[in-house]
Amino acid sequence: MAFVVKKFGGSSVATPEKIYHLVDRVLGEKKPDDKIVIVVSAMGDTTDDLLTLAGRITDHMPKREMDMLLSTGEQISIALLASAFMERGQKAISFTGFQAGIRTNANHTKAGIMEVKADRVMKALDEGNVVIVAGFQGITDEGDITTLGRGGSDTTAVAVAAGLKADICEIYTDVDGVYTADPRVVPNAIKLKEITFGEMLELARLGAGVMQPRAVEYGELTGTDIHVRSTFNRVEGTIIRGEYTMMEEKKFIIRGVASDSNVAKITVRGVPDVPGVAYRIFNGLAQENIAVDMIVQSTSAVKEKNDIVFTVTKTDMADTVGVLEQLKNEIGFARVDVEANVAKVSIVGAGMLGNPGVAARMFGALASENINLDVISTSEITISCLIAKEDEKKAVNVVHRFFFPNEEK
Ligand code: ADP
Ligand code: ASP
Ligand code: MG
Repeated sequence: MAFVVKKFGGSSVATPEKIYHLVDRVLGEKKPDDKIVIVVSAMGDTTDDLLTLAGRITDHMPKREMDMLLSTGEQISIALLASAFMERGQKAISFTGFQAGIRTNANHTKAGIMEVKADRVMKALDEGNVVIVAGFQGITDEGDITTLGRGGSDTTAVAVAAGLKADICEIYTDVDGVYTADPRVVPNAIKLKEITFGEMLELARLGAGVMQPRAVEYGELTGTDIHVRSTFNRVEGTIIRGEYTMMEEKKFIIRGVASDSNVAKITVRGVPDVPGVAYRIFNGLAQENIAVDMIVQSTSAVKEKNDIVFTVTKTDMADTVGVLEQLKNEIGFARVDVEANVAKVSIVGAGMLGNPGVAARMFGALASENINLDVISTSEITISCLIAKEDEKKAVNVVHRFFFPNEEK
């Protein structure tokens, strides 16, 4: 008996025809006593459309109401999918996040899953149902609906798989695995057979949109292997797991190139050079749940003043400026500059640990295309450069070419 959680993204359920294609595939592969849970996203561009709709009412929709709105997308797809299974003669039942026991904190629009109480899902499986769970949503202890951040159905799927102790979590999408770069940007990117949680987490965090970073974190934390594969063909995809099992997969120094233009560069100018100032700035941002990246402090032209530069996601840009404006007088800095026309291009790979010169190679690649580097940041297994947004595609391609020369798909 197999016990599998399968997650289907928005493009996999975009139309009734696609829903039936998915249902027929699942039933075609299902053995009689297999236990199958399906986590599903909203149809096609539904979430984007709901965001546009919200924007026609207000630019400042309260986050609680935003969650109330956005969570409806997934509720449509679960009902349709469950009904399509029943139409094919398969017992099925749909559950919202609440009904599936997905308990989250109250951090609206990017809530974190605290616990999955899977009893009801388990009972429905034991009664012979294919269980359909709405991705992207959960419930607070107060009973408020939350959403888990864009791409959050991935996290629902991994959390449900972990909560049920399923054999594996399969993420079905419109590409057939994790590649060394976004195949839509780098046509000859290479498909990886395996990737570790650590490397996939960094790739996802740095912009490889194929998995939500939280989902990878959850997989690592709970030891749940994740298989990223295609909805539209049956080829083996990429397994995300703790350790490599195939020697050949270890040979790359870097595992991938990622880029992210959903970033904004914030410069706090003329910050007094005294202890505790950085603490006050970043603590203020942390209190608002704003994640900060690429922090650099440099001496400003003015004596005893510094400039502090960092990046945030574009979605947090307005909130970031709001927090800083509140702190301005208290801290006594000069002003805040915001630059939204930037992109972050990054390389990721545990192999760079014992290999000097990887950073130089990346900078050389970018220099060969005359791409100017703004902020640079590194971690143990990543190097990221902030560049002009217009250079993003060119940068990803040239960096990929330098690290994966002559590799064919
Ligand atoms: P879904 O709606 O199924 O969740 P997403 O659009 O969220 O699908 O994720 C799939 C997309 O991720 C692909 O179409 C691809 O363009 C993009 N992507 C970005 N980086 C990578 C990568 N390294 N490997 C594979 N796909 C990637
Ligand atoms: N529908 C949500 C989104 O578009 C969640 C998801 O697709 O994973 O972000
Ligand atoms: Mg996704």
